[in-house]
Amino acid sequence: MAELFYDDDADLSIIAGRKVAVIGYGSQGHAHALNLRDSGVDVRVGLREGSASRTKAENEGLRVLSVADAVKEADVVVVLAPDQAQRSVYRDEIAPNLAPGAALVFAHGFNIRFGYITPPAGVDVVMIAPKGPGHLVRREYVDGRGVPVIVAVEQDATGGAWALALSYAKAIGGLRAAGIKTTFTEETESDLFGEQAVLCGGVSQLIQYGFETLTEAGYQPEVAYFEVLHELKLIVDLINEGGIAKQRWSVSDTAEYGDYVSGPRVIDPSVKENMKAVLADIQSGAFAKRFIDDQDAGAPEFKALRAKGEAHPIEAVGRQLRKLFAWVKPSETDYVEGSA
Ligand code: NAD
Ligand code: MG
Ligand code: MG
Ligand code: MG
Ligand code: MG
Repeated sequence: MAELFYDDDADLSIIAGRKVAVIGYGSQGHAHALNLRDSGVDVRVGLREGSASRTKAENEGLRVLSVADAVKEADVVVVLAPDQAQRSVYRDEIAPNLAPGAALVFAHGFNIRFGYITPPAGVDVVMIAPKGPGHLVRREYVDGRGVPVIVAVEQDATGGAWALALSYAKAIGGLRAAGIKTTFTEETESDLFGEQAVLCGGVSQLIQYGFETLTEAGYQPEVAYFEVLHELKLIVDLINEGGIAKQRWSVSDTAEYGDYVSGPRVIDPSVKENMKAVLADIQSGAFAKRFIDDQDAGAPEFKALRAKGEAHPIEAVGRQLRKLFAWVKPSETDYVEGSA
């Protein structure tokens, strides 16, 4: 059984006694900075020159500095730039200004696990990874709740790394839900696998194949959209509340029987073999290298794949249909339809 932590297991005064620099003000960065601030922590935000996020952070009353100056003032540095940017930000602006005995905080273990960042021996290296998008991390905190976090210590130079990590997890609201103890290796590999095989890659491909199968057979795209995409949220909500069993309990017996006989035909054992191959590429670092090499070259593969996904016919149908859905409310993010 995993080791779990709650608010009573953490001492907020530890992080409240430190000076924290949050580097990056995107999905996670804005949520961590604002939640820390509202928990009474001394926070500043470090951003690149000309960053579009500067005004947003300043409008929230946060102090914004260059990355180097933010790190110089701080003894806890939270690395929330995009994973592919962290290596150069760390090398050029964080490492030269990092005080001995300081702590580095990550929300995903990618750069540590795959060796793109190697911190010096004298600093604590910890991870607090919320298991939800940053906008939810902020919204739940404001509503008095929290998004569960997973917590890990890679390097305990001071002897206080665990207490600091739990204190930080409490300050962003994560321990109102729960903290789960893990390692950088387990978090990084399982997070990449989950998003690639199931949550993002697997689900996206499943929806597209379902839509293509129906429309190629002559069914109307609008009807296909409802059956293979729109209703997914209702099903996922049931799974989230009570597992696959609750979903099967709630749907009709017809749907439940179809689940048993056709699910394993669509997702057959070869899919599990494919998943094992994806996991092997994650564990070996091959996926990380492909991603970072492409990013370093200006992301040609990434941009081409994004454009191809955006051009799939299900996106155009969905844009038209969602205009008619009075009950679908966009969440409070900066996402712009069709902007990819
Ligand atoms: P993001 O892309 O939303 O935002 C990154 C921010 O970093 C930008 O808004 C910008 O302010 C800043 N930035 C960009 N390039 C920079 C540079 N070169 N130097 C300094 N700042 C720069 O990123 P994100 O999705 O919040 O991811 C941050 C970290 O959190 C990653 O390690 C990611 O894996 C992890 N994480 C993200 C989520 C999520 O919901 N998005 C969930 C869990 C963990
Ligand atoms: Mg993104
Ligand atoms: Mg991830
Ligand atoms: Mg139906
Ligand atoms: Mg039933």
